[in-house]
Amino acid sequence: APVILWFRQDLRLEDNPALRAASAEGPLIALYILDETKGVRPWGGASRWWLAESLASLETALRRKAVPLILRRGPADKVLAEVIAETKARSVHWNRSYEPYAIRRDKAIKAYLTRRGIAAASHNAALLFEPWTVETQAGEPFKVFTPFWRFLQSQPDPAPPSPAPRRLEKAYKQPRSEKLADWSLKPTAPDWAAGFRKLWQPGESGARLRLEEFLTGHLGRYPERRDRPDLPATARLSPHLHWGEIGPRQIWHAVKTMQIASGDLVSPRAAETFLRELGWREFSHHLLFHWPKLWAEAWRPEYRRFPWRGDPAGLAAWQHGRTGYPIVDAGMRELWTTGWMHNRVRMIAASFLVKHLLVSWQEGEAWFWDTLIDADLAQNAASWQWVAGSGADAAPYFRIFNPVLQGERFDPEGAYVRRWVPELARVPHEFLHKPWTAAPTLLAASGVVLGRDYPHPIVDHAAARARALAAFERVKK
Ligand code: FAD
Repeated sequence: APVILWFRQDLRLEDNPALRAASAEGPLIALYILDETKGVRPWGGASRWWLAESLASLETALRRKAVPLILRRGPADKVLAEVIAETKARSVHWNRSYEPYAIRRDKAIKAYLTRRGIAAASHNAALLFEPWTVETQAGEPFKVFTPFWRFLQSQPDPAPPSPAPRRLEKAYKQPRSEKLADWSLKPTAPDWAAGFRKLWQPGESGARLRLEEFLTGHLGRYPERRDRPDLPATARLSPHLHWGEIGPRQIWHAVKTMQIASGDLVSPRAAETFLRELGWREFSHHLLFHWPKLWAEAWRPEYRRFPWRGDPAGLAAWQHGRTGYPIVDAGMRELWTTGWMHNRVRMIAASFLVKHLLVSWQEGEAWFWDTLIDADLAQNAASWQWVAGSGADAAPYFRIFNPVLQGERFDPEGAYVRRWVPELARVPHEFLHKPWTAAPTLLAASGVVLGRDYPHPIVDHAAARARALAAFERVKK
C-alpha cells in the first residue's frame, strides 16, 4: 500500500530518516503542505521566497528519482485526510518539528490517523539530540549554555547521517497536485528579492556546496575571523539548516572528519569553536521546546513589565538603515538586500534597537522574522532575548554595545561599512564609524553633508546609554 512522506522543514533526500523509513515500507507519495491555518505563524516575506526556491529544487531532485512532489495548500490535518482518501495510503511518515504549534498539531494528527487505522511515525532530522534527553542532574532542562554544551560533549556523537535511498519507488496512484507558481510565494513588483538570487542557492545541492566551500576554505580560520562581518568567514548555512536542506548531524560529522583528515590544518580548536555554534542552535531549539512562549514573551518575568518606548520614527530609521550609526545601518541594509546579516552585526543592531532606542525586542524580532531568509522561531527569539537581557542565558543588562567601538573593532578596515553604506565610502578611515565627529568641511570634501546624504545619529550614545541603564536598573529591582 502507498506510504505518504510528509515533507516539512526537512527539504532534503540525504540524512532524512522519514524518507528512509517510508521508502523501505512501500511505494511513495511525496507531499508538501503549505499550512497557513490560523494559529500557525505565517512565514515572513524572505522565508516565502526561500521556500519557493527550495521546493523547486526538491521537486527536481525527486523527479530525477521518478517521484513527483505533490503540493497542496490548506490545514495539514484536512489535506492529509484528503490525500489518504484519494490514494488509499496506509501510513504517513514525517520528521519532527519542535515548535509549539507544530507539536500540538502533529499530536492531534497522529491521534486522528491512529484512530482511522493509519500508521503514523515521526523521526528526528532537525536536532543533534532530542530535547527530552538533555537534562541536568536534577532532571531539569538546562537554562545556561555552558553546562548544556558540556553535557552534549560528554555524550556519544549523534548518529552518523544516512545517505539518500538509492532507488525510490513511486506509488502508482498519485493525488492531484497544485502548482508552485500558483502559490505566489515570490515577490513580483517590486522584486525586493533580486539581491537574494546572487548570493544564495536554496536547496540540498546548494547546501552541500556551501558546506564544502566552508570546510575547505574557512573552517581553519573560523575562531580568528568569525566575528568579522567584512570577511567571508562563517558558513552561511543558517537558511539551509532552517529549511532542513542539510541537517546538523551531517555538519557535525563532516566537521569532525575534516578536522582529522586535514592533518591539523584545521585545529581541534577550530572545529570545536564552530561546533559550539551548532550547540547554540541546539540550545535555542531546546529552550523553545521547554518554554513554548519563548518567542512571544520575556523568559524572565520581571521583563514582562519593562517600560518599552513606542518610537515609530526610531523603529523605521532602524529598519531602513538610517540611524546615523554606520555599523548598525550597514547591517540593516545587508539584511534588506541579501536576507541575511552577520551574527556580530545582528548583535550590534539588535542591541541598538533594544537599548539605545528602548524599543521592545518583539518589534525587532518581528522585523527579522519578515526579512531574514533564515528566520527561525527558536533561534530568532532566543537570540533577541539574549540581547535584551530577558532570556535564559542572557547578556547582562548593563552590557550596552557602543556601536562606534564595535564597528572599529570588528570592521577594522571599514570595508563592510563602505560596501553597505556607499554614501560614506570616501569618508576618511578615522571618521568612518563616527562621521559626525569629522569637521563638516572635511565631510563635504568626501561628498557627505550630514542630514542631507547621511543622517545625524538619531540618539546620542552617552545619553541613550544612561537612559537604558536607568530603565533596566528599575526593572531589575
Ligand atoms: P556560522 O557562524 O557559520 O554558524 C554555523 C551555524 O550555527 C549557523 O548556521 C546557525 O545555525 C548556528 N549558529 C551560529 N550562531 C548562532 C547563535 N548565536 N545562536 C544560535 N545559533 C547559531 N539564526 C538563525 O538561524 N535564525 C534566526 O532567525 C536568527 N536570528 C537571530 C537574531 C539575533 C538578534 C541574533 C543576534 C542572532 C540570530 N541568529 C539567528 C543567530 C546567528 O546570527 C545566525 O545563525 C548566524 O549568523 C548564521 O550565519 P552562519 O550560518 O554563517 O553562522
